[in-house]
Amino acid sequence: MAYVHAPRWRPNGFLRGSAALHAAALAGAALGPQLWPWMLGAVAANQAAILAGGLLPRARLLGPNRTRLPAAAAARGEIALTLDDGPDPEVTPRVLELLARAGARASFFCVAERAARPPALVREIVAQGHTVENHSLRHRHDFSLLGPRGYLREIGAAQEALAAAAGSTPRFFRAPAGLRNPFLDYALVRLELALVSWTRRGFDTVDGNAASVHRRLTRRLRAGDILLLHDGRPARTRHGSPVVLEVLARLLAALRAAELRPVTLRAALD
Ligand SMILES: [Zn+2]
Repeated sequence: MAYVHAPRWRPNGFLRGSAALHAAALAGAALGPQLWPWMLGAVAANQAAILAGGLLPRARLLGPNRTRLPAAAAARGEIALTLDDGPDPEVTPRVLELLARAGARASFFCVAERAARPPALVREIVAQGHTVENHSLRHRHDFSLLGPRGYLREIGAAQEALAAAAGSTPRFFRAPAGLRNPFLDYALVRLELALVSWTRRGFDTVDGNAASVHRRLTRRLRAGDILLLHDGRPARTRHGSPVVLEVLARLLAALRAAELRPVTLRAALD
């Protein structure tokens, strides 16, 4: 794949400073061994900051990262429901049913490899007024260890597959598990994708208790929030049903009571 006309990447001040620090440390190390401990200390502190910026899903240190809707959308009483890790042949159709009944719209961050089987599911998501966004090709566990080319390949291939399946090109990207490194920002700029995280998440892939997942999602709930749920690989309740279904039913009722309107990220950000 060629990215000849892709936009140029302009790293932020922190990353430019980090690069300058590493260059200065190399130059300083050449001056004499008495400077080495200072250089190593400065480089180690900088590396720790880069690592923290990549491990905290809501951090902005490594590049732009949206965690709330813009003020204009909040003023309109809008909120964004985002569903990750799907589509899933069992769960996604039931999520779509709940959303349709409530007249709610959502953004589905699909794993492209899962979207390929069956592709009809992705078309159904779009047909019902929701949008399909990019959550990588395979949801690799070592995603945060990829380099610039690895990111371009993994996210670029997902972008093509999801665009073909959905009929429109994804505009937003969410990193698997929210983990990343400084090269991700480079790849997202080249692929014209914006990184979106969340205001709050319910941990519905690990907690099968609908009440506690719902509580995490609705604590200090207000207009402009971006909520993270999962239609792929959700935890199960005591009765064996996907916890997201119970949570979503409650959540949609809570949003209605609070007069908050669930819209897609594209609608809120346009
Ligand atoms: Zn995920």
